[in-house]
Amino acid sequence: MEREQWCRRVPKTGAEQVRRQLIAEGILDTTLRPASDGEDILFPVTEHGEGDILWQCRELPVRAPLPRHELVGGIAIMQDEDVEEARRLLASRPSLHTVLGGESPVLGTYRTRTYRVLAGVATTRTIVTEYGLRLAVDLEEAYFSPRLANERNRIAALMHPGERVLDMFAGVGPFAIACAPNASIVYACDLNPGAIRLMDENIRMNRRTNVIPVLADACHLPGILPHASFDRIIMNLPMDPAPFLDAAFTLARDGATIHLYALQEGEGALLPALAARTLGDIREHEVRSYSPTQHHAVYDIDVLR
Ligand code: SAM
Repeated sequence: MEREQWCRRVPKTGAEQVRRQLIAEGILDTTLRPASDGEDILFPVTEHGEGDILWQCRELPVRAPLPRHELVGGIAIMQDEDVEEARRLLASRPSLHTVLGGESPVLGTYRTRTYRVLAGVATTRTIVTEYGLRLAVDLEEAYFSPRLANERNRIAALMHPGERVLDMFAGVGPFAIACAPNASIVYACDLNPGAIRLMDENIRMNRRTNVIPVLADACHLPGILPHASFDRIIMNLPMDPAPFLDAAFTLARDGATIHLYALQEGEGALLPALAARTLGDIREHEVRSYSPTQHHAVYDIDVLR
């Protein structure tokens, strides 16, 4: 039997990396067989983003489906608090050490949640592997989502050697550490001391020597780095980025690029505020579908005064 599904088209070389990434994001449609088209593989996905296409895929034989979950390194996060199902999930993958259930929604300035251990080792800490990087993560201590791995890879690939980079809301450092090989220096700011501690660990684990953690409120960065001007600025505080635009534009050199992530109800919601600050090009892309009413978008902004 065949069924039409959204698919991510990738060249056969490098397809395994993408397959693992889709599994980590919890969006590989495991009920369908990946399709092949010339030099490309098409992976069926349960959540589509920009560039994905509809394709007829063959259905795979039905196995008892695993409970719905998201993977973060060796931790699976389940939506339901079903201990029996959690044990079955734990046994299904040798790479898992813990199954958690979310106790709270994502809360507060630090964007963290609390969890209940449903099966396995009682920890919220794990190591995530992403595009060749190893990242120490503690889900209760600091925000981390594997869903932006492709974005981090995209931005690192846009860079020119020697760029000066500022990550204003850096968390445990995944953007900063991914960008560092192409940068002369990366300043990585976060307000959460727990995030900065994990970032420090990650900088050392990935042997980066040009990433400077900054424990601060990002709106104070122009005062903390008074003579700095950056080629690239990453603003990943999608719930409420607008209050930080002044700081970002103050710290961006003419000709810089700002990558601003936003959760918004309609397309282009931030365009008026951005167009008032730059004469340069503003490109908006959808990162992923977030909910029926909210879109997760990224604006790539060329700063031109
Ligand atoms: N960029 C990281 C990533 O991709 O994993 C983390 C992004 S998370 C959505 C937002 C981060 O911003 C959190 O780690 C939070 O602690 C931090 N944050 C919130 N308000 C802040 C502020 N005013 N200044 C600096 N960091 C802030």
